[in-house]
Amino acid sequence: MAEKAGIGADLSLPGHSECEVNQVDAFMKIRELISLEKHLRSFPETPHGPIGLIYPHVYPVGMASLGYQQVYRLFRESGFGVERVFWDPEGRETISLENRIPLFRFPIVASSYTYELDILHLLKMLIRGGVDPLAEQRGPESPWLIMGGQAATANPRLLQRIADIIVLGEGEQVIEALSRRLIQTQGEARTRVLEAVAELPHVYVPRVHGEFDRHRFPQHTLEPLDLYPCHSVIRAAKDEFGGAFLLELSRGCKYQCKFCIVHYMNGTARYREFDSLIDTLDRYQHLYEKVGLLGAAVADHPRVEDVTEWLVRRGKQVSTSSLRAERLTERFLDLLREGGQQNLTVAPEAGDVTRRRDMKKGVRDDKYLRLAEWAGKRQFHSLKLYFLLGTPGADPMDEAAEIIEFSRKMSEVFTGHGGGKIIAALSPFVPKPTTPWASEALWDPKAVKKASRVVRKHLAFRGNLKVPPVNVKEARAEAILSWFGPELTDELLRLAREEISLESAFKDFNLDQIPEQARRISGYPELAETGGKGMK
Ligand code: SF4
Repeated sequence: MAEKAGIGADLSLPGHSECEVNQVDAFMKIRELISLEKHLRSFPETPHGPIGLIYPHVYPVGMASLGYQQVYRLFRESGFGVERVFWDPEGRETISLENRIPLFRFPIVASSYTYELDILHLLKMLIRGGVDPLAEQRGPESPWLIMGGQAATANPRLLQRIADIIVLGEGEQVIEALSRRLIQTQGEARTRVLEAVAELPHVYVPRVHGEFDRHRFPQHTLEPLDLYPCHSVIRAAKDEFGGAFLLELSRGCKYQCKFCIVHYMNGTARYREFDSLIDTLDRYQHLYEKVGLLGAAVADHPRVEDVTEWLVRRGKQVSTSSLRAERLTERFLDLLREGGQQNLTVAPEAGDVTRRRDMKKGVRDDKYLRLAEWAGKRQFHSLKLYFLLGTPGADPMDEAAEIIEFSRKMSEVFTGHGGGKIIAALSPFVPKPTTPWASEALWDPKAVKKASRVVRKHLAFRGNLKVPPVNVKEARAEAILSWFGPELTDELLRLAREEISLESAFKDFNLDQIPEQARRISGYPELAETGGKGMK
């Protein structure tokens, strides 16, 4: 392994001798991707780093992650050079996008970890990049591995033997403090650096703190949000949002759906001020044609219609994430249509209103049917409905029957008024840390599979109804990765080294262990008791 540089080092580009011949293709793709990007702002000189910033999925997914872009911006503003690193499905050596630097040559590697299932990508990227995935095996010449993001905060134990430093909660202030500390301690012994970093609030350092205890790390949220802007800093021509300029409207959520982590981990809703949103949109308007408005419950933003109208009046296209049906108005739908949005997504979660109330998603049927009518009249191409299967106390076959009836009603109204197709997307319920349903039993895989087949048989490919296949194995893996920690590391490393997929993993895992594990590992009980007011 080549020599490793310190944080202040200037890493030269690897010569072609360091790169495999079969990477020529990858370089061509990289050049093409970079040439199509637009950098929306410049950053001050970068005397430190560089940091290899990983998103453990492919480029279009990573660049559509506002969290990833925000971390890029925060490290750049703190004086670090940053090079982006994405998952290469073709299995080549892990190198950075900008200057093709192999991962092991970075003094610091940081990774967003938002979705549990990306853990294998991350481990494979480390291995392919010449970085030992086990923290205890990395010596003074190895990079630091910093991790953060929704999945890292929800279950830091999974990363206990992998990451050196884990940022918990909303990262803006934490990353700034961490950057300062890393710069102050550069050149010092590895243990001294870890001890200094472990003094920072909301930073978990497994080798200093030992076993993770959530009570030692109170929930961390940013308030007011406008302390830090949050929008694309690099606009990719090819990402999951079709190269839109991404703008965050809100964080957290005021609703308290029992299965959803957003409210219980990110706290109650916080909204960005209208003036600051318009300021941002105005400043960059010459650099974008399309805007993605993001947030857990975008339609709840008190000025979302005014923001959308501002964009539409300037000839911009608009798209939004999933919306709460009862918050939608005809004016908002008109604006979205004028802004080029063709598809709508809502998440009833259950076909029956009583079941919805039980999970605290108590939106009535008439609100969904009203939306189907309004959306149909405006000729939206599709209306996607998200449903859960296998929720606590429910018989999946009952859930299936309710979903079939509800989706048919929605389809009749939507297509009857001129709309396109209804897409019923089913996901097995996964108990998540910190939520009221954290310690609920996981469904019987056979029962959920059978129920999903029934829904598909009755709805899929009939008229304008579509039901994508359900991946029960993936949901099972997600549940295990949400709750188990260092005891899984060796198995995950085996899967990564032998190139085995998560879907084929954990076959003998006893799912009954999950509720017991959930009871053992504490969440944010104070939040459940106080109605989920975010703490700082
Ligand atoms: S499911 Fe949606 S509305 Fe419910 S808490 Fe989560 S983000 Fe909020």
